[in-house]
Amino acid sequence: MKVLVDMNLCQSHGECAVVAPEVFELGDDDVLRWEEDVGEELREKVEEAVERCPMMAIRIED
Ligand code: SF4
Repeated sequence: MKVLVDMNLCQSHGECAVVAPEVFELGDDDVLRWEEDVGEELREKVEEAVERCPMMAIRIED
């Protein structure tokens, strides 16, 4: 699956990095970095990140 983050919406709160650290990482510069191509084994975690993101900035594309 593909993981997309709308960086116009993201406010670097980092909830996604807490629930799915394998995919999302907040850098020292407070800018979010993430893996775009993610294996199915991490789908549940990414879905949780989608739900937890206060800005609704994360999207999964199959
Ligand atoms: S949870 Fe949402 S707003 Fe926060 S860093 Fe992740 S994508 Fe950005």
